[in-house]
Amino acid sequence: MNKTRNPTKLQGSIRTPKFSSYKDEARFWDDLDTAAHMPDDDEWFRFEVTARSDRCEYCGSSMQTRSIDLHLVGHRVTLHRVPFLVCPTCHRNRLPETVEQLAREIEVSAAKALTPGPNVGEVMR
Ligand SMILES: [Zn+2]
Repeated sequence: MNKTRNPTKLQGSIRTPKFSSYKDEARFWDDLDTAAHMPDDDEWFRFEVTARSDRCEYCGSSMQTRSIDLHLVGHRVTLHRVPFLVCPTCHRNRLPETVEQLAREIEVSAAKALTPGPNVGEVMR
């Protein structure tokens, strides 16, 4: 084992060197002993389940971004060319979270100011 290329004597974290090739990187991970980095009274891995915003929550495909005009407040407000996510596999679609949040805030604000209730319409470009 070549000790000079093993930069793993760090506390708490593993520093990875710059790899010159996949073979070099594979050798690094093969040689790495994580025991020294693992706290005695803790778990090494913690997984948090988070939805990836670029993935279809139904089939897991990578969503494609399209552009739409988003009509809000019964067509009184239109957001032009907002991103809109479409699944190429199962064709489900949705607004990105940030756009959905913005649309909701506009609807809530408008509902306070105007008589009609919320009404979100979407038109594909
Ligand atoms: Zn899908």
